Amino acid sequence: MSDQKISVFDIYEYLPQTSCKNCGEYNCMAFAEKLLQRKKNIGACSALRIAINEDKRKEIQKLMEENMD
Ligand code: SF4
Repeated sequence: MSDQKISVFDIYEYLPQTSCKNCGEYNCMAFAEKLLQRKKNIGACSALRIAINEDKRKEIQKLMEENMD
């Protein structure tokens, strides 16, 4: 159990930051907000699914798990 809360910036830090819009959001920051609100799934970011970004995806998943009640 953890009461640690993460911010949108914590998530954004690990996003590809290309704002390619493939996730359906205007930019990566908007996607980070939706992730934090649980309105989007991390899998919606196509860039995070490529091997080179695997570490980033894992970090975001870890942050999200830590932020669960
Ligand atoms: S798909 Fe990923 S890299 Fe592209 S805008 Fe969305 S969050 Fe950013």
